[in-house]
Amino acid sequence: MAALSKNEIERYSRQILLRGIAAQLKLKETRALVVGAGGLGATILPLLASAGIGSITVYDGDTVERSNLGRQHIFRENDIGNNKALSAARVLRDLNPHIEVVAQAHNFTESDAPALAHTDIIFEGSDSLAAKFLLNDLACRLRKTLFIAALGAAQGHAMLVAGNACYRCVFDEITEGELPNCATEGILSTAPAVIGAAVAHAGIEYLLHPDYETKFWIFEKNHCRKVAVRKRQNCKNHAA
Ligand SMILES: [Zn+2]
Repeated sequence: MAALSKNEIERYSRQILLRGIAAQLKLKETRALVVGAGGLGATILPLLASAGIGSITVYDGDTVERSNLGRQHIFRENDIGNNKALSAARVLRDLNPHIEVVAQAHNFTESDAPALAHTDIIFEGSDSLAAKFLLNDLACRLRKTLFIAALGAAQGHAMLVAGNACYRCVFDEITEGELPNCATEGILSTAPAVIGAAVAHAGIEYLLHPDYETKFWIFEKNHCRKVAVRKRQNCKNHAA
């Protein structure tokens, strides 16, 4: 059983005041895997680190570009040209020296699936539909908790894949070209932070109070709504 040092108790004191030491220890023992350190990941990652998630592994094969700096607020001018996962890991270690951070400087692929065996919660925030489906299918097969987040110019969404329906139940028909893309459609600087923060918050709440219902949120302009999703009859992830 892990214990909290004096410094950790001081660092997390406001959160401990609300949820107690046992909850903080639960977060310390949590192993999170984050796919994508772009707009969504750049918000999800520091929030998980600050909250005290004990182990964070981040995957991203991209390098930081100047056009990322308007919304990927963990990166700086001097990160341009460097790998996003490695740059993000440096920031997280500075932010919280009490946690373990592992950077994988490549995009998550099927060959990385064994890493999921040692993972308690997964956050998918890349801009690849193929990656979303891959993580969705693996999470269903391995019964892992997965949050998927996506964003476009006019709308973003997030899903907690937790058992009774999955990302394919909603999006199986769409193709990569139909998914909104910040690089071609543009994006308001603050939008990824809104969705990323909502997903990180929902993830922390889920860890402290697991809820095995699939959830789906749609973010539009200044509001967010939760919509019901149902299992699709011919979805391959729910075969009897
Ligand atoms: Zn499904």
